[in-house]
Amino acid sequence: MTNPQAYKWFFETTTPVEGHMHAIKRTIVEAQTKFQHVEIMETASYGKLLVLDGRIQSSQADEFIYHEALVHPGMLATDLPPRSALVIGGGEGATLREVLKYGSLTRAVMVDIDGEVVELCKKHLEEMHRGAFDDKRTELRTEDARAYLDKTTEHFDFVSVDLVEPLEEGPACMLFTKEFYALIGERLTPGGTMTVQAGMTKINALSFFTAIHRTLRDVFPVVAGYQTFVSCFGTPWGFIVASKKIDPRRQDSQTIDKLIAERVGGTLTYWDGLTHQHAFALPKFLRQALDAETRVSTDANPLIFA
Ligand code: SAM
Repeated sequence: MTNPQAYKWFFETTTPVEGHMHAIKRTIVEAQTKFQHVEIMETASYGKLLVLDGRIQSSQADEFIYHEALVHPGMLATDLPPRSALVIGGGEGATLREVLKYGSLTRAVMVDIDGEVVELCKKHLEEMHRGAFDDKRTELRTEDARAYLDKTTEHFDFVSVDLVEPLEEGPACMLFTKEFYALIGERLTPGGTMTVQAGMTKINALSFFTAIHRTLRDVFPVVAGYQTFVSCFGTPWGFIVASKKIDPRRQDSQTIDKLIAERVGGTLTYWDGLTHQHAFALPKFLRQALDAETRVSTDANPLIFA
């Protein structure tokens, strides 16, 4: 076994009193953009790692878990095969890659505020986007996603919110509010769905997930939380499907496998009927925390990640 002292270490604080470490082989790039601090590193266990403002976004080895979990439960719960999708944020291009697996899709718009981050991902994270930016169905826009949603008149069958957490000084603070989700609701087709990455679901760090869930319940008739373990984050991670019609919790394992066979081109390595069942079967303490939550994030009082 290699001596741990032979490595440099990257330390991520997950809460103010907890964290975890990754051994770093090399830093590929480090930059300060107009919006955030970016690092792309090569780790000893997970290959390349994208870090924004000190927080891990994804790793080469297990990004398929995060990105398949973020996209497929929503894309499989639209009432008709999805024709159009909007990715909000999504820097690495891997969320875009997953939506493009649907043969029915004719248009995918990705709106990320930070063109410099996207360019760095294009250049250094080919393993993640795998050419998604060059797909002829893709339109890449560099602007604030809320400003884009305010002005567009287009409707989408699926919207994925793949944003950094709303840090106090960060670019995403006003994109986790009830008003923002209502704007997404207006831009979804009647049988459309959205998914959102909603932070940690580990004990003692649930409050972001439960507040987002509670906020979405004010806007959508169907709100279904689910979780999966993302090992480079060192914690279970929460996601939420919000839908106007179909409740993914009512889709059984066979239905999901059938829909994947019908709708998805290429292979999925994480999501299938059994994974779907497992992810939506939330444990008791988490269900209780969701039921007990009263906070609603609003423009006047937005949720800030501490
Ligand atoms: N996988 C991630 C995680 O674990 O949090 C999130 C993926 S992605 C790298 C987040 C992207 O959101 C970044 O590229 C960032 O530039 C983008 N972003 C932040 N604020 C935004 C805004 N207001 N409008 C559009 N994109 C935004």
